[in-house]
Amino acid sequence: MDFSLTDEERAIRDTARQFITKEVMPLEQEALLRERRHQPGLELSELRELQQKAKKFGFWGLSTPEEYGGMNLPAVLQSLIWTELGRTFVQFKFGGEADNILYYANEDQKREFLLPTIEGDRISCFAITEPGAGSDAANIKLRAVRDGDDWVLNGEKTFITNGNDADFTIVVAVTDPSKRASQGGATAFLVDKSMGWRSEFIQTMGEGGPASLIFEDVRVPHRNILGEIGQGFELGMKWIGKGRYLIPSNALGIAERALGMALEYANTRETFGAKIGTNQAIQWMLADSEVEVEAARWLILRAAWTVDQGWDPRHASSMAKLYGAGMVNRVVDRVMQIHGGMGYTRELPIERWYRQVRLMRIYEGTDEMQRLIISRDLLRGYTKIGGHLA
Ligand SMILES: Cc1cc2nc3c(=O)[nH]c(=O)nc-3n(C[C@H](O)[C@H](O)[C@H](O)COP(=O)(O)OP(=O)(O)OC[C@H]3O[C@@H](n4cnc5c(N)ncnc54)[C@H](O)[C@@H]3O)c2cc1C
Repeated sequence: MDFSLTDEERAIRDTARQFITKEVMPLEQEALLRERRHQPGLELSELRELQQKAKKFGFWGLSTPEEYGGMNLPAVLQSLIWTELGRTFVQFKFGGEADNILYYANEDQKREFLLPTIEGDRISCFAITEPGAGSDAANIKLRAVRDGDDWVLNGEKTFITNGNDADFTIVVAVTDPSKRASQGGATAFLVDKSMGWRSEFIQTMGEGGPASLIFEDVRVPHRNILGEIGQGFELGMKWIGKGRYLIPSNALGIAERALGMALEYANTRETFGAKIGTNQAIQWMLADSEVEVEAARWLILRAAWTVDQGWDPRHASSMAKLYGAGMVNRVVDRVMQIHGGMGYTRELPIERWYRQVRLMRIYEGTDEMQRLIISRDLLRGYTKIGGHLA
């Protein structure tokens, strides 16, 4: 058994780390200051500029197929890079990406939606959650009714990331109420903001925030259906599925950086004439964090590796998401404890992480939904105890 990275994986990971350390981390203090003033830590124009710089380093479209100018990286490499991204709290991500389900678009739609999203000229958002349907996404109600060459959409989506900035949405709507959304009753539509939906920003405990999208008699041409009629729920699950190993990959980077800060503090902060790291109470928090970081790393990499094998990654990804999201919350909490009062201030990023990582246990499938999937797979014999080694 070989747990090491290949030379190529190491080289790409290290180049990403170098870029983030040299180009992104120096912006951290300014980002913290801006966020304290309730401004974005990084302006869109600054993000685009950094993304262009990264492109020159070779980082463009981590998951984007080569025919669209991307790197088309294997999932393991994407995971490693998302961990690097997690090391900085500046809201940077590499450019050249588009929602994975936009590749289901036809050629005209690709020109109108996919290509400009990859280029960063258009901003998308994906909308399935509604005020009455989150975990139970098959219970959505936003209705699309056929009227000649158009569909007329009515209803509300909520908690939509980028919802306030997007100029188009991929919205999943009920097209056949006689069927459950999960059984062919829902369809995905590509809807320009100019077609008439409006957004309302939602304040959250995190930086930035999602939005509600309100549809009142919004007319959408039939040609704007993404994929097939009745395929909306399946596409929605594909969109959510991608984040299931990338969110914990990101969490791992946050936890590693935070734990590094705790080590440094434990080795320098003195109380009662000795470094706090000489106390067993502090040592145990460090040790427990290190164990959990390592455990998460291997669950996450196995989930990504499962994707690369072409196997069904749902079980492995749910375990990685459940454990990775819980792990980062526990680690950041301990890191704050080790920093005492300083950890609670806005001088340091710890309280920011504390707010940020709480979301990881909620969105793209709550902890409880991951547990539901994992236990259901076991109970139905879809997976074996011991996984692929069993
Ligand atoms: C900041 C943010 C960004 C988001 N971005 C997007 C986005 O871009 N697009 C999008 O479509 N959605 C998005 N979401 C929505 C997110 O995916 C949902 O909030 C999440 O799936 C949970 O749904 P809910 O909030 O309706 O909670 P509910 O489903 O109402 O659940 C409430 C609680 O009950 C638990 N629960 C529910 N059912 C069960 C059960 N059967 N057994 C045990 N426990 C259960 C849940 O785990 C949770 O703890 C975002 C949410 C947030 C907060």
